[in-house]
Amino acid sequence: MEFINEEKIKNLLHDDSLLDTYLQKEIIKKSSEAKGLSLEESAALLNITSPELLDELYHTAKEVKEKIYGNRLVLFAPLYVTNLCVNNCLYCAFRRDNKDLQRKTLSLKEIEEEVRYLVLQGQKRILLVAGEHPKKANIEFIGEAINRIYSINIDGNNIRRLNVNTAPLSLEDFKVLKDLGIGTYQCFQETYRFDTYNQMHPDGPKSDYSWRLYAMDRALQAGIDDVGIGALFGLTYYKFETLALLMHAFDLDQKYGIGPHTISIPRLEPAFNAPAANQPPFAVDDESFKKLVAVIRLSVPYTGIILSTRERAELRRELFEVGISQISAGSRTSPGSYQELEEDLDKRDLQQFQLGDHRSLDEIVKDCASLGYMPSFCTACYRSNRTGDRFMELAKTGNIGKICVPNALATFKEYLNDFASEETKETAREFLDEEIKKVEGATRNKVDKMIDRVDKGERDVFF
Ligand code: SAM
Ligand code: SF4
Repeated sequence: MEFINEEKIKNLLHDDSLLDTYLQKEIIKKSSEAKGLSLEESAALLNITSPELLDELYHTAKEVKEKIYGNRLVLFAPLYVTNLCVNNCLYCAFRRDNKDLQRKTLSLKEIEEEVRYLVLQGQKRILLVAGEHPKKANIEFIGEAINRIYSINIDGNNIRRLNVNTAPLSLEDFKVLKDLGIGTYQCFQETYRFDTYNQMHPDGPKSDYSWRLYAMDRALQAGIDDVGIGALFGLTYYKFETLALLMHAFDLDQKYGIGPHTISIPRLEPAFNAPAANQPPFAVDDESFKKLVAVIRLSVPYTGIILSTRERAELRRELFEVGISQISAGSRTSPGSYQELEEDLDKRDLQQFQLGDHRSLDEIVKDCASLGYMPSFCTACYRSNRTGDRFMELAKTGNIGKICVPNALATFKEYLNDFASEETKETAREFLDEEIKKVEGATRNKVDKMIDRVDKGERDVFF
């Protein structure tokens, strides 16, 4: 636990000098260089309350996001393979003591059916999610699931990047996971506050705070280059959690020269028979949530920030403006539920938590395009070996866009040709043309050729 220094965070939260609006203004100015911030500076920004300074903060976060990631929003969908769990997290419907939950582990055939459904929606990235179950959801099961998912190809349409969110693994199992060809390994600490952690995780393997905290170290030591951290907001004071999350990011960067590839910011949602979810001990209001997203963007500009469908559509739109770079779309949070009707889902008790955004992938794509965000289905970096320090170098120097723009345009065109509704095509056509026009010089030539190849029926065009 040596790198999560609770004392230091508490001191920062009580440091009155960090309430100074002149100082906060100066830090916002500095953050516009997109070089990141120290923990002290991040704490000062979290203290902002004046509406004018908040506006400046949001505006700068948007600029920094655009400098590094442009107007792109990467899309993905989660795939729950089991809701069996030996842990007892007080906020999750999958908790062991929730005897009323219908338990289900997908067979390989069922996994294949779910993936076929997602592929035919146009998804190219999946986040595999599982409860923790050493017997039924062990590394062999996860491995078979991953191999099956990657094996599915429907006329050139397939899942091209598979990220994984499972319980922390041993070094040996992480090596197996790496060899299976995953994209990012994600695991959220949930809360970095030791006492709260112990209260929320009364038993099961997850009750070991350090085992979870050092999961990313083991993953990186096993050769998995891209790791994603996160905190479940609502369990403790949001400023504490944000600073601890940043401490974790800084520590990984210092030790391995690779910060987290992504930071996730799930906020507690109501969940079936989960006392802490239904009455969050430190519920985070929308304004504070928006502020913490902006602060994370400015503190670690190179990191992807993931927003899930836990949040409502209107708030999601606002958060795109302050630094989100990856979003889930068309999600379901129970095993085997993609092909079920929405109303049937509510009747059966299988879900991990309730969702705030129920729109389909197509509706979300249309919405993004109409707001001026480029939906990206690109998976090129990981398949061109631009992971870990190679990705970070490009992101930190603001050069990632040169590669991402053409790839995003080509994959978006592929989506429009293959899967978009007429309405979405209509909305996106002009937007796409404008985006292509913005590309200049040799890159423009490249883009035109890539788009032409997609239009001629070639799939998976990237560089
Ligand atoms: N079981 C593994 C674990 O806990 O690490 C894998 C993933 S778990 C199914 C996915 C994440 O869902 C958890 O890490 C937690 O942050 C989040 N989660 C659990 N209950 C939630 C709730 N009520 N609202 C929002 N997110 C929740
Ligand atoms: Fe199990 Fe993960 Fe839910 Fe905890 S959060 S009960 S470990 S599925």
